[in-house]
Amino acid sequence: MKNFRKRHARAGARAHDWAPFRAAERLICPSVRQAPFRLALAYANTYEVGMSSLGFQRVYELVGETPMWTCERFFTDGRGIPRSVESDTPLNQFGCVAFSVSFEEDYLHLLQMLDRAGIPLRRKDRGPWDPLIVMGGSCASINPLPMSEFIDVFALGAAENVLPTLLPTLAEEDDRNAVLDRLAGERGFYLPSHHWPEEEERLPKLRKMELTAEQMRSPGNLPTSSIVTPKTEFANKFLIEMSRGCPEKCRYCWATFGMGKFRWHPADFILESLDRARAVTNQVGFVATAVGDHPEIERILQQALESGFRSSVSSIRIPAVKEGVLEPLHASGSRSITLAPETGSDRLRQLMNKPITNATLLEKVKLIFRHGFTQLKLYFIIGLPQETMEDVHAILELGAACRGLMLEEASKTGVVGNIHLGCNILIPKPYTPWQREPMDDKRNLEHKISVLRQGVAKLPNISLSMMSPRQAIWQTYISRAGSDAADAIERAARGQSLASLLREFPERIHPEVFQTFPRQLRWQFMSVG
Ligand code: SF4
Repeated sequence: MKNFRKRHARAGARAHDWAPFRAAERLICPSVRQAPFRLALAYANTYEVGMSSLGFQRVYELVGETPMWTCERFFTDGRGIPRSVESDTPLNQFGCVAFSVSFEEDYLHLLQMLDRAGIPLRRKDRGPWDPLIVMGGSCASINPLPMSEFIDVFALGAAENVLPTLLPTLAEEDDRNAVLDRLAGERGFYLPSHHWPEEEERLPKLRKMELTAEQMRSPGNLPTSSIVTPKTEFANKFLIEMSRGCPEKCRYCWATFGMGKFRWHPADFILESLDRARAVTNQVGFVATAVGDHPEIERILQQALESGFRSSVSSIRIPAVKEGVLEPLHASGSRSITLAPETGSDRLRQLMNKPITNATLLEKVKLIFRHGFTQLKLYFIIGLPQETMEDVHAILELGAACRGLMLEEASKTGVVGNIHLGCNILIPKPYTPWQREPMDDKRNLEHKISVLRQGVAKLPNISLSMMSPRQAIWQTYISRAGSDAADAIERAARGQSLASLLREFPERIHPEVFQTFPRQLRWQFMSVG
């Protein structure tokens, strides 16, 4: 598919200056600047957020490794036409723009990026000279329907499985219709133009092409950072994926129900990948939904330490907190641990199918502080089915008990740390056992938030961050909506406030409507492959 120049490209706004970003980057994979085919790889958020995404970096590496292809990155930074980090080329000069989207909130940014580039937002308004718009990432696999009026092609599954079909199709076909016709017959793609969007409940079964356990036993399928930079949330860290899925089955969690069985990359591949990082950094971040459940986590952390790396991990499942994990992490300089008790009460935790008790959690927290960690992040969710005010108070009591353990340790060391409570609101996600649950009432949520705020204010060394109920209502809506969400999403992208959208589309957006879901859920046309 040919690259082209957009006739009505907007000019005028000053281009974002990518030079300091380029100068700060240290490349792990060789970068190919000249190739006959170019893919625009876009992240609908800032450089800092996008470059923190291992999935985004993985696509960049895989395209760059493909003969005859090169990849240029786009982010939301700046104003006017988005321009690539690599060569300052405008977004509208590419034949295909592939977005990697992991958060539904970024749908608005995605549309704003298209608008800034002069690319028609709705796929039906795009002509032969407009770029093909592709969307991958976890949002495409959770429920692509709300974006189906805007996106030409949804890539369902792992980049390793969909790029070998997408890239040759783009290279070999001459125009967007030919590309669409060919992809519609391939596994791992959902094309709203070809898959009968007007009959959402009768969409054909499509398979998501997730990375299988067998594929993960190949060293070429280990996602690691392709670029290390100080300008990300994980400054200067070389990220390595440990595993996919999770051995637990929490009822609200898409990561376990939507990503397939828990499987992991062999420890030897993970350790060998450190050799690639050595030339540019001594910091490594091990990432996964269940990092601590890798069967060889202790060996990996110990060997990373002995090789001179400072290690950190994304959140660990509570049962996986052990001396063999904490010791090498602390010895390598890590001082922060993140756990997700989710609720303050054992009763509610049982209901969400998370078989951890407060007693077990407190044992683990004690172990954490005893090993010299000073920062503890605890993630909670409010608005759960059958939640009472006692359960909300239990969050504060659990926070206070953790604080007691922290102070006990501080009395020996003289170092007082802090505890952060990160509270989210339940967003019932497609494919989870709670996908049909209604959202908690807005007024209930506001009351619960106020109780938490007042309680935390009385607890020194504890901080709290809260998701807003309005944000949760919007997220719940766009997580489970169909293609009829396009109007609301487009208006929100053009600046209409959520309050005004709630007034205008109350029957669609308001959480209570979700109690009337049909038996056949609209997003269930995708199965894990
Ligand atoms: S432990 Fe975490 S990742 Fe695993 S199922 Fe529960 S919420 Fe999901």
